[in-house]
Amino acid sequence: MPESYLFSTVAAKLRKFREDNPGVEVIRMDIGDVTLPIPSAALIAMHKAVDDMADKSSFHGYGPEQGYDFLRKAVAENDYASRGVQITPEEIFISDGAKSDLGNLGDIYSKDSVIAVADPGYPVYVDANVIDGRGGELINGKWSNFVYLEGNERNGFKPEPPAQHADVIFLCSPSNPTGSAFTRNELKAWIDYALDNSALIIYDSAYCAYITDSDIPHSIYEIEGARKCAIEVRSFSKTAGFTGLRCGYTVVPTELTGLDEKGREVSLRKLWLRRQTTKFNGASYIIQRGAEALYSPEGKLEVKQNVDYYLANARLIRQTMSKAGFTVFGGENSPYIWVKSPSGESSWDLFEKLLREVNISCTPGVGFGDAGEGYIRLTGFNSTANTELAMKRIIAFFNK
Ligand SMILES: *Cc1c(COP(=O)(O)O)cnc(C)c1O
Repeated sequence: MPESYLFSTVAAKLRKFREDNPGVEVIRMDIGDVTLPIPSAALIAMHKAVDDMADKSSFHGYGPEQGYDFLRKAVAENDYASRGVQITPEEIFISDGAKSDLGNLGDIYSKDSVIAVADPGYPVYVDANVIDGRGGELINGKWSNFVYLEGNERNGFKPEPPAQHADVIFLCSPSNPTGSAFTRNELKAWIDYALDNSALIIYDSAYCAYITDSDIPHSIYEIEGARKCAIEVRSFSKTAGFTGLRCGYTVVPTELTGLDEKGREVSLRKLWLRRQTTKFNGASYIIQRGAEALYSPEGKLEVKQNVDYYLANARLIRQTMSKAGFTVFGGENSPYIWVKSPSGESSWDLFEKLLREVNISCTPGVGFGDAGEGYIRLTGFNSTANTELAMKRIIAFFNK
């Protein structure tokens, strides 16, 4: 497996630029983490939960590996039933975050499953499956056993189902890094493909709270047939500032089955339960109480305010970059804006130009896959004041 140099190279280049140019203030538009503090509803609930631990009558030791009922019920009611989707608490598995689940799910499908991933895409899907031994050989930067689903200008960085067969398909919507999001019809085509191919879709909707268009489903289970072919993975990280607290969940419907080596149907929910109870001892009680509080009226309001704050930044970036003549994707149902190099420069050339001439940093798109070459990723996670300043610099430089 080659080393991953993307974020360390960005950091090293930034460090060097700052050393060589003291007094020049670089604005970080490459931030991949939330920056606002957690909602106070979660803070209050966690303080109380800490106190619970100090009293014999309310102390909590090992909890259920699948998560506490109070949180699984809150998720089922607020994230699903409220949108007309029937998901029972038994189908919800609370975890320490989406990244762990996305990697750990490899324990319940075969070592020789053919994996399909979007290019460009979130690197965890590729790397986790390579660690599990599903990659094959690395030839010209591509793993020989994977099906790469190319995102491009033509498909709006929303790959269509491939002609080849795949067993496990990773879809991320709204997408990190491109900010693109599948419509109902586009997602339906994927579900049809999965049902035809007896394939499993692993649907990463870590950014579903950023969806604003009514035509974009929040959950894959809003589409008919998904209960038979899809696992959905979600996180409180980008929604509620839980990146440092660690909590997420995975939904595995009871109807979802795979085939064992003799061709017999096996419940994936039962397999995942077995996997989690074997290798995981549950997310922290304190953190789960914090997550539960996000579903209180105050918590919901605060989550919405935080998401709206990042979305307003993203919108400003999208509008400004368009005005400056760039072709842009995302930034509407996502904190990410995917920007095309105006005159065919490479991702790293545009990175250097923005750093040196405009004093803003970005993430080179090629770091998310070959099909990301010629693009950069900007994010709405900086403060509004810094975002506004960065966009003034863009206008001053590109519209002169
Ligand atoms: C941030 C991110 C995650 C990881 O979320 P955690 O719950 O913090 O582990 C998963 N998927 C995508 C696409 C992300 O951007």
